[in-house]
Amino acid sequence: MIIKNEIKIAREKAFLGERLTKKDALALYEDNDLLSLGEWAQNMKLKKSDRKVFYIVNRHINLTNICSSNCPLCAFSCKSDDFSGYTLEINDIEKIVNDIKSVKNLSEIHIVSALHPNKPFEYYVEIVKFIKKSLSNISIRAFTPVEIVNFSKQSAKSIEEVLKILSIAGLNSLLGGGAEIFSERVRKIICPKKATGDEWLNVMRTAHKLGIKSNASIMYGHIETIEERIDHLIKLRELQDETGGFQAFLMFPFHPANTELGKKYNLERVSSWEDLKMISLSRLILDNFDHIKAFWVMLTLPIAQLALNFGADDLDGTIGEEKIIHSAGSKENSGITCKKLNKIIIEAGYEPVECDSFYNYKG
Ligand code: SF4
Repeated sequence: MIIKNEIKIAREKAFLGERLTKKDALALYEDNDLLSLGEWAQNMKLKKSDRKVFYIVNRHINLTNICSSNCPLCAFSCKSDDFSGYTLEINDIEKIVNDIKSVKNLSEIHIVSALHPNKPFEYYVEIVKFIKKSLSNISIRAFTPVEIVNFSKQSAKSIEEVLKILSIAGLNSLLGGGAEIFSERVRKIICPKKATGDEWLNVMRTAHKLGIKSNASIMYGHIETIEERIDHLIKLRELQDETGGFQAFLMFPFHPANTELGKKYNLERVSSWEDLKMISLSRLILDNFDHIKAFWVMLTLPIAQLALNFGADDLDGTIGEEKIIHSAGSKENSGITCKKLNKIIIEAGYEPVECDSFYNYKG
């Protein structure tokens, strides 16, 4: 069999755990040797976290689905006059907080929402303050850079000011969503009104410099090219070299159901092969990230479990209730128990570690 020289070089570098260039990553993608990719990614995972697989007891809250952005990729959002629109107020949050007070070992509240056209920045600040006051030992991981850019525009405050105000209110870390694919060609089609790729990266740079950690993500399997996926990962790696502020990387395969984008381009959900290939490639390219999450709600539990052998070392969390991905057709349950997460980790031959938002062990 003739192996193209680029592929041979890339395979050797992946085997040795050396830094991959864009050309290497494209060669490995083309090579399509999933089991070797998985093995090399697994070697990197073992060096970083041995046989540990992390998860957190967390609860998701989606404050509103009313959005001014109307991205074609989205199945969650609606306009303010839509009958399915909702917005949680402080009294709703109070009920949620009272309900979740009894959740054993709860470590984190995760808040992500649509870009409500009329809710001022103060609304979000008050909610963060209220949750922090009610659940003082719980870490708040909230808002994507897309939301932060929106707060900045709405309030006429700089990104830095917005982040400082949220941090004083009780925000502990930022979410990694909204990155999609940084390519402006793609963003013009899939999410033309929301923050640009550069704005997303700039929010993260500013947050990291203020000491606010975050996650990072990619959304793949729509109209992007493989090259655009690799460029995206390399931009994340460059920022991580600069700030060291990313904690973990998540992959979101695009769920086309109920989306304008899915309909227009007749898109289907990518295959499990592609998911595992992306997990492995991401682990190898993002050599300066400590953790790669297999986000089971997006990937499904069986694929997330398999991903543990392809470089992932984190199954995210118990979640509780999730609306955004389920709007786009996810059939997974909204929540999962620690018992079930432990079981699937042990079954795959790994050691489950329940942790907090900063990977400190619990229990
Ligand atoms: S992806 Fe986010 S910003 Fe875009 S429409 Fe949906 S909720 Fe709004």
